[in-house]
Amino acid sequence: MKIFLDNQLVDAEDAKISVFDHGLLYGDGVFEGIRLYDSCIFKLDEHLIRLEQSAKALMLNIPMSRVALANAIIDTCKANNLTNGYIRLVVTRGVGNLGLSIKNCNNPKVIIIADAIQLYPKEYYENGLKIITVPTRRNNPSALPPMVKSLNYLNNILAKIEAQSLGYEEAIMLNDQGFVAECTGDNIFLVKDGMLYTPKIASGSLKGITRQVVLDISQDLSIKYIDTDITRYDTWIADEMFLTGTAAEIIPIVEVDSRVIGNGKPGIITGNFLEVFKSKVREEGTKI
Ligand code: PMP
Repeated sequence: MKIFLDNQLVDAEDAKISVFDHGLLYGDGVFEGIRLYDSCIFKLDEHLIRLEQSAKALMLNIPMSRVALANAIIDTCKANNLTNGYIRLVVTRGVGNLGLSIKNCNNPKVIIIADAIQLYPKEYYENGLKIITVPTRRNNPSALPPMVKSLNYLNNILAKIEAQSLGYEEAIMLNDQGFVAECTGDNIFLVKDGMLYTPKIASGSLKGITRQVVLDISQDLSIKYIDTDITRYDTWIADEMFLTGTAAEIIPIVEVDSRVIGNGKPGIITGNFLEVFKSKVREEGTKI
């Protein structure tokens, strides 16, 4: 496998970074997860723009232009003969000393890994996923804005640990006010009385690229959406529910906190969204 590192493609065994990189020492950096479908990169520009915005929030200078990054991503996919897969784009603060200060970190590192995608098991898409609300809250935006896709995922990791220790694969994370924010690696949608609901970004969720695709599809399907404050109660009484993410795509939820959602089977409207989504990812994208 070839990895993009230090402006070149190197063998995976040689793709090494310093133990003084602040990405490792402090989780100081940003990343994107991007999909390649049939040799087309889905929503590449959107991912690159979000990466730039995350980096700007952390005052991290990405040492490559958007075009150069796009070309490097394409080269990495090609070097690995990949036609379908998952691309991980990482920018770390780079090597510094053992202090927090970024003053000595003069060489941010760009890393690109293009590999096969690890999907959720097929049965979750067919039968739906059961999830639970966990105690760990999503980051308070005044501490670390959840809109920043940073290398520091510790509160999501704690939530995932809590979910898995109870036998669940995903968890709902609430914000400081107790409203639903998102899951550990996916955005949340509800369907109630034919309307689509999702937590507003200010509730503490990542501005998901797949979330936006679903909002666009809702226009195509003439389904009205509202992004608003959502409570746990709202999730329990939803007719349908699904999660969205680059890796998970659209995954139906059939149980939340031991309450059955709808009739306990993936919802019809959820299925409609999934169908349009699947056609979109094959039709749109940047050819490699
Ligand atoms: N929320 C979090 C916390 C995430 O890490 C992700 C990405 N895995 C998402 C939502 C979904 O975002 P996207 O659709 O851009 O992948």
